[in-house]
Amino acid sequence: MQLQSFDQSLPILVTGGSGYLASWMIKYLVEAGYFVRTTVRNRQDERKIAHLKRIAEAGPGRLEFYEADLMRHGDFNNPMRGCELVIHTASPFLIGKIKDPQRQLVDPALEGTKNVLYSAGENPSVKRVVMTSSAVAVYAEAREILDQPSGAFDEHNWNLISDLHYDPYGYSKTLAEKEAWIIANQQHQWDLVCINPTFLFGPTLSGRADNVSVSTIRQLMNGELRLGAPQLYFGVADVRDAAQAHLLAAFTPEANGRYLICAQTMSILEMAAVMRASTSLGNRYGDAFKLPKRPLSNWLLYLIGPWVGFSRRFLRGNLGYAPQFDASRSINELGLSYRPVEETIVDMVESLSYHQ
Ligand code: NAP
Repeated sequence: MQLQSFDQSLPILVTGGSGYLASWMIKYLVEAGYFVRTTVRNRQDERKIAHLKRIAEAGPGRLEFYEADLMRHGDFNNPMRGCELVIHTASPFLIGKIKDPQRQLVDPALEGTKNVLYSAGENPSVKRVVMTSSAVAVYAEAREILDQPSGAFDEHNWNLISDLHYDPYGYSKTLAEKEAWIIANQQHQWDLVCINPTFLFGPTLSGRADNVSVSTIRQLMNGELRLGAPQLYFGVADVRDAAQAHLLAAFTPEANGRYLICAQTMSILEMAAVMRASTSLGNRYGDAFKLPKRPLSNWLLYLIGPWVGFSRRFLRGNLGYAPQFDASRSINELGLSYRPVEETIVDMVESLSYHQ
């Protein structure tokens, strides 16, 4: 991607550089010769940042690490000094059984967003903040698609359903994005652009297993769903395309508002079918992956759901409904082009096999 003109001597801050998505943004920026700063929670944690050090060594751009925690007020002041662009990506992404959703999800997402944006206000150099929100700030349940006159979710939609106990991750992202727009609209120093990706897949640079995108595909690869896959559908996009979307939003002066990022809607079973149909995966791994061939029966899922992390309310709102997403703003206004999902899934499986 050709980035538009920007003073390459100015640092660009990417928060949460150790993450699955942010690592790709850093790679692209460093490869394009930019001076990048990134915040991580612990600069000594090689497991989380060794891949970023390798990216920095390959250059030609520069990468500096700063320690910052979303919950610590003022931590982002220093790394933001002299930056015109801030890409705020750090936020906990956790699903399943969450013990304390307020502490584990809502507080870091919301207070973290406030801390980052208040630091932007204290650094007069900052002109634009690109924030990673999510499609989960756009909708909560796939069944809501039946109420959309156009048949697709778009940037006008907001998640009005999730709360602290029902889909706390979606709730945390919705609260954080709403707060970001309130803070942005109270000042004139910097503008805000939000990127709202659907479920991201594609290669991991760090190989970390604790990312939800990674663990979802690992479940398929490990045969955990071989007896059948729940009939759940979601929007899918490539992590590399989502990273590019952030950079396009950062460098396109006219970028504004929210941008939904989605290549295609797919079910878990369709993802498994892509893996099975891939000749390159077949040649390399044969039938090593015990992939599901049939859907899991809905009644069985209703029966066992609560024990495997799916509440009955979640199943009622999602099972069997295929949400559609209108991502045309990302294509027409940012100029984003989407990879075919087959490439996304095959490249992800290859990268996970490499990191195993
Ligand atoms: P990830 O790999 O789990 O990355 C999350 C990042 O946030 C990590 O760098 C993590 O730091 C950091 N973080 C979490 N809590 C923090 C805290 N208290 N203080 C400082 N940093 C903290 O997840 P990801 O998939 O890359 O997600 C990145 C962003 O994209 C999130 O905002 C997520 O909501 C959004 N998103 C992701 C997807 C997806 O499918 N992956 C889809 C839509 C939106 P550590 O490395 O120290 O844990």
